[in-house]
Amino acid sequence: MDIAIVGAGAAAVGLLDALDPSVVTSVTVFEPASTLWRGRPYQPDLDSVLVNAPPEIMSIRSGDREHYARWLGGRCAGFADERLGRPIPPRAVYGRYLAETAEAALARFARTKLVRVAVTGVSLGERLSVRTSDGRVHEADQVVLCVGGGTPLDHYGLAGEPGFVADPYPLERTLADVPPGRDVAVIGAGLTAVDVVASLAARGHTGRISLVSRSGTLPFVWQRPVETGIRRLTPERLLALPRPVTLEHVIELVRAELADHGESWDDLAAWTTASARRDPVESLREQLAMVDAPLLARRIVQEAAHTAGPVAWRLLPVRDRELLRARHFRTITTLASPMVPRNAAVLLDLLDAGTLETLSGIERIEAGDGFRIVHAAGERTAAVVVNAVNPPPHAIPRAARPLVSSLLRQGAELDPDGGLAADPDTGRIMVGGRPDPRLHVVGDLAGGGPFLVSGIPGVAVQAARAARSLGSVDQPVDQLVK
Ligand SMILES: Cc1cc2nc3c(=O)[nH]c(=O)nc-3n(C[C@H](O)[C@H](O)[C@H](O)COP(=O)(O)OP(=O)(O)OC[C@H]3O[C@@H](n4cnc5c(N)ncnc54)[C@H](O)[C@@H]3O)c2cc1C
Repeated sequence: MDIAIVGAGAAAVGLLDALDPSVVTSVTVFEPASTLWRGRPYQPDLDSVLVNAPPEIMSIRSGDREHYARWLGGRCAGFADERLGRPIPPRAVYGRYLAETAEAALARFARTKLVRVAVTGVSLGERLSVRTSDGRVHEADQVVLCVGGGTPLDHYGLAGEPGFVADPYPLERTLADVPPGRDVAVIGAGLTAVDVVASLAARGHTGRISLVSRSGTLPFVWQRPVETGIRRLTPERLLALPRPVTLEHVIELVRAELADHGESWDDLAAWTTASARRDPVESLREQLAMVDAPLLARRIVQEAAHTAGPVAWRLLPVRDRELLRARHFRTITTLASPMVPRNAAVLLDLLDAGTLETLSGIERIEAGDGFRIVHAAGERTAAVVVNAVNPPPHAIPRAARPLVSSLLRQGAELDPDGGLAADPDTGRIMVGGRPDPRLHVVGDLAGGGPFLVSGIPGVAVQAARAARSLGSVDQPVDQLVK
């Protein structure tokens, strides 16, 4: 079988690692970027750009939680996050893990080829024809789209203004010309904004840093990982619920899971709501003090958001999904994607020193001899504005737009929640209303998932499912699930 993989980021690495070389004989990987296997997040960058999660949830090999931790083993000196009790290396180090995993995986196939240009279309003839931006055509039996996700949107129309950084990565390049004493505004208050602040601090920035966002709330802080022993909030238990499944049923399951551990959903919900209203500095201080707290509730909900969450999302009626998106988007992302304590400590030091501030209720940003930021409590000026807003989930990456358009013209469909409509159990792309066994999608472009951008564990699971599915093209779909 000849397989074409479009994109060489983490999703492609997980896929290559999961493919069976006795089924797949030839692999062609298409990637226009200058660095392979690292995608947007894990390219060479400043040492202050850290991974956002402990090693046990960063394995790119689904079903082998220790794969990355083993690789990191002897290489982790100097990366300890003491409060978390885990090594948290720079993202570029994780990129090296991905690159070495990809190279080892590629060595197992009879024929491999790297094509360093973008794919612009796939023709769904008897065999698949993959067109590239240099005008060539490559034949394949199977095509897997591993093209990644979106980039930050320019909400305030600042593109091209001097001093505006439209996409912060790599921070090594985008922060290089920021004068250390000038005032910087960062749009957003999520994990990308945390990367920007930690990197400005590491470069010895002395000017004021303003985090400007709608809510003004910072991500929560990771708690020391412990075995949660989740029994009820699992994909299997969700799938076994009587239909139709509503948000109430899911909350009942959360309630029962926490009660099993002697904890309370009502207490967690009340604490989460109160945190969002509390002064961000006090909230961050409290969070840092809770890294070691034995309570499991937050750890359980965080873990379940990534494991059971995608299954729950598929089962929920549209009205409940809309409710979650409209009312609880910020709370869920804050709970599900916390920052590492090392970065939290950097932010708290800067907040205490008055170098960093959080401003909420952002209204507009005007450019002209620097920037004027209008927010709920007044105005701020800044010499530099860094765009750190989260890209919308399931966005179509710019580099993949011609490819996606070509598939849409041939009967593929967009999912109403974003991304390409795909069968969730196999990752097969829907063409003409049916999953096409020759076309798969792995990563954020796969539609039908919740509004959380896929982290490594989710991407690894999808990659393993796609590998199983394309290795079993003659089996009925229901035999491929799990
Ligand atoms: C800044 C950032 C930090 C993150 N940190 C973490 C973390 O610490 N822990 C965690 O679990 N998750 C993290 N994530 C989430 C997750 O790890 C990433 O989303 C993951 O890297 C996704 O991998 P991917 O291969 O799907 O996409 P990407 O890594 O973006 O790779 C996609 C590749 O496809 C290529 N491509 C696009 N279009 C085409 C085309 N037409 N032809 C050929 N190639 C194409 C691109 O050039 C790119 O190299 C982070 C995400 C971001 C954005």
